[in-house]
Amino acid sequence: MAQSGYQFDEPYLVRDLTADDTVLFTRLYRQILSAKGNVSVLLQTYFGDIRDCYIEVTSLAFDGVGLDFVEGKQSLALVKANGFPSDKILFAGVVNGKNIWRNSYAKTLDIIGELQKHCDNIVLNTSCSLLHVPYTLKNETKLADEYKKYFVFAEEKLAELAELKNILSADKPMETDVYVRNAALFNESRNCSNSDIQAKVSALLDKDFIRLPVFAEREKIQSKEFNLPLFPTTTIGSFPQTAEVKANRSSFKSGKITEAQYTDFNKQKIAECVALQEKIGLDVLAHGEFERNDMVEYFGECLDGYIFTEKAWVQSYGTRCVKPPVVWGDISRAKPMTVAYSVYAQSIIKKPMKGMLTGPVTILNWSFPREDISLKECAYQIGLAIREEVLDLEANGIKIIQVDEAAFREKLPLRKSDWRSDYLDWAIPAFRMVHSGVKAETQIHTHMCYSEFNDIIRDIDNMDADVITFEASRSDLTILTALEENNFRTHVGPGVYDIHSSRIPGVEEIKAALNKMLEKIPAEKLWVNPDCGLKTRGNAETVPSLEHLVQAAKEIRNENC
Ligand code: GLN
Ligand code: ZN
Repeated sequence: MAQSGYQFDEPYLVRDLTADDTVLFTRLYRQILSAKGNVSVLLQTYFGDIRDCYIEVTSLAFDGVGLDFVEGKQSLALVKANGFPSDKILFAGVVNGKNIWRNSYAKTLDIIGELQKHCDNIVLNTSCSLLHVPYTLKNETKLADEYKKYFVFAEEKLAELAELKNILSADKPMETDVYVRNAALFNESRNCSNSDIQAKVSALLDKDFIRLPVFAEREKIQSKEFNLPLFPTTTIGSFPQTAEVKANRSSFKSGKITEAQYTDFNKQKIAECVALQEKIGLDVLAHGEFERNDMVEYFGECLDGYIFTEKAWVQSYGTRCVKPPVVWGDISRAKPMTVAYSVYAQSIIKKPMKGMLTGPVTILNWSFPREDISLKECAYQIGLAIREEVLDLEANGIKIIQVDEAAFREKLPLRKSDWRSDYLDWAIPAFRMVHSGVKAETQIHTHMCYSEFNDIIRDIDNMDADVITFEASRSDLTILTALEENNFRTHVGPGVYDIHSSRIPGVEEIKAALNKMLEKIPAEKLWVNPDCGLKTRGNAETVPSLEHLVQAAKEIRNENC
């Protein structure tokens, strides 16, 4: 009969802990465990290793302890160095709960072999909950077997655990059919490499990550080039994706309309959007992003090296779902991705039109990444592809280019002491390489949202964009203090209203937000914009909101001149 018990999830333990944290943890759990009676208690950790409290955790009266051997860089070393109590069960997270690639049984058996030297009782487990992966591969009817054989979703991951168990209980594990088949798959070439791209990444030099002239000089040159008013107004890019915009895309996908019909419709929407922005009086325009389903899949479709699933949805941000594309191989730009629409949009208006791209870190963070090369290598490959697009836009007369890094923070490690070495040391350069080749006159914007930025504000400045727009309105503009304290150099547009609500902000309310910003941000650095793209909003609220935004900027301009 199964033993009854409780599982306590404590992923917090994989962060950098202070001595006080550890004392508190011990005190709390000593009390909890003193009341457990006959019930078993499992302490489950994941998303990293528990190097700051391994001794304390293994000394407490837990019946089981769950450790992550996929993301936990030091988990195995901790067990080897300190042993594991023989009265406890080790729940060994050896099957990746976050990614969709098949488990390499050879590698996993090596880990288990090491663990068995120190632990008498091992339960095989996934490294974290299966919330982060799609449900089952069975529904992927269109993906060819040559790809599918490399993937496992939630249901198949459970089968992997069972297979591993069977292999381990066999007399000759490495001679079992499942082991032999798995090993053969990992020995086979996956037909996914592009030696040109690999050579380009290896040939990158320090200078490829440095944009010249330096920021202060560009600032002067761009001020003459664009001659924008104080407090320039702009949007983050997308305009409402109305039912007709979505219908146009699905008609094209299902073959009901031709490519020319599809493109003509998008151009017509761009023309309407440009006319609307001109009427409202915005200073820097956007084409509206009507051709995009989302900000990663669209680019993935234009890049070689990506593949797509049909139904591999995963939960994101509470109730929302996303279908991340899969990085299958080395990435390169198959064709210009945004040039035609941007050039068309600029051709119908004199005011500057922003080219609109998604940055390499966000593209990678919202994809299922490869496991056979590093995230850094992959980010640099995507960075080179986006760099080509940036230079192509510039060569075609686009003078302001926005490279969105909405999900920049998403893969920042939970453990702060790993931030730099494991993430920022490649993520920041991946962005810098995208724009280091443009002329001084070309203005580079970026946009970030979905997170707190205060603690990486210096790193964000170090991305060396000319202008950054933030989602800030929901955090009550706390970011302003961080900007001021860190002497933030980049020109900045902290969103003046929350686009996630259908509420229309009034002129006075926007002016109040701007005045609050002006207490901390020099006037000549401040941009005025909503806090994110408008694609999820309707026209009914978007138009008056933007009218109010422009009116507020005008009034603040008059008051500050
Ligand atoms: N440019 C994108 C848009 O306006 C940015 C989206 C985002 O930040 N999530 O929709
Ligand atoms: Zn945003």
